[in-house]
Amino acid sequence: MQLSKRLQNLKPSATIGMTAKARELSNQGMDIISLSIGEPDFNTPDFIKEAAKKALDDNFTSYSPIAGFAQLKEAVIKKFQRDNQLTYQPEQIVISTGAKQSIYNVLQSIIEEGAEVIIPTPYWVSYSDIVELSGGTPVFVEATLENDFKITAEQLSAAITSKTRAIIYSSPCNPTGSVYSKDELQALATVLAQHKDVIIISDEIYEHIIYGDKNISMASFPEVYDQTVTINGLAKAFAMTGWRIGYIGAPAWLAKACETLQGQVTSGTNSFAQIAAITALEANPSVVDYMVEAFAERRAMMIELAKEIPGFKVNEPKGAFYLFPDVSENFGKTFNGVTVNNADDLAMYLLEHAQVAIVTGAAFGSNNCIRISYAASVDDLKEAMSRIKKALS
Ligand code: GLU
Repeated sequence: MQLSKRLQNLKPSATIGMTAKARELSNQGMDIISLSIGEPDFNTPDFIKEAAKKALDDNFTSYSPIAGFAQLKEAVIKKFQRDNQLTYQPEQIVISTGAKQSIYNVLQSIIEEGAEVIIPTPYWVSYSDIVELSGGTPVFVEATLENDFKITAEQLSAAITSKTRAIIYSSPCNPTGSVYSKDELQALATVLAQHKDVIIISDEIYEHIIYGDKNISMASFPEVYDQTVTINGLAKAFAMTGWRIGYIGAPAWLAKACETLQGQVTSGTNSFAQIAAITALEANPSVVDYMVEAFAERRAMMIELAKEIPGFKVNEPKGAFYLFPDVSENFGKTFNGVTVNNADDLAMYLLEHAQVAIVTGAAFGSNNCIRISYAASVDDLKEAMSRIKKALS
């Protein structure tokens, strides 16, 4: 008996893996501070929970249409118009079991064996694995800390070949917190508009967790609208990670393919969660400002604390809730017989010597960095950073 080659080659998700490891050590009685998962440390707002309870009482407990309830699609369309100035029709919207499934659906729908998918690096952990699972070949285009972890139009242009079928990136970026400005996106759009067979997968799940200018959607550049898929979901903006509601706005032919695929895999996502999602999307986005304000305070504190840690170099994240320090100055150093040679080693060293769980940058395509989530309480963050400082001193 043996697993398929696809599954033999598939790595477990490093973010989920580290979180599970931290949980296991905590259960064994160790005092672990976990800054590994990217998950708001807030509860879902009450008005959304009430809507879910009502949806249950109203018996939204059967299958929904595969691509989602018409009322939810309408709410998504209004949200896209309100927040992103994007116009979509119902047949361009597909609701899925989290933005992760949305990404999976899209890549499965467009990637042939051997097709290339450009992934600006550092990238969110699952992009490369989902590309490979779809039979595609990830083409990594490296963004440097000096350039605030953003790729340039020249780099993008040089990476496109006759085999390129898609590009996938997040802005605000998980793991770096970088946000592409309007001009930077325009430059990328200009290149991509010359390659009409390249699908742009723009992951905007962190759009509301932003500390400067408002997020700009790639699909708002008219020259690339018909080749762009906008990925979003409710997990981060509304602290609804466990509800598993993601969605896309896409060209209708591609949305149709995602719907067909979903019809064979999940039959559509949870019905009462979809009804509650309508309430969330229809609310004024300012109802979750208190979360963003809390993240903003922690971000400022974390940037300051990171500066005090030996061998940490950080960019200033403009969105999301992660620090992504370059820690390579620590490589080659030995303590208590343990030598730290790379980001994996440093992550294990911090887990063992500081009892702080973070994620190795290698999981995001960056061997010199680690990812620290600051979606945690101020007290935990202070304590974690002081432990890391001590362990690296
Ligand atoms: N997106 C979150 C993270 O990067 C959740 C975990 C996951 O799905 O990878 O930590």
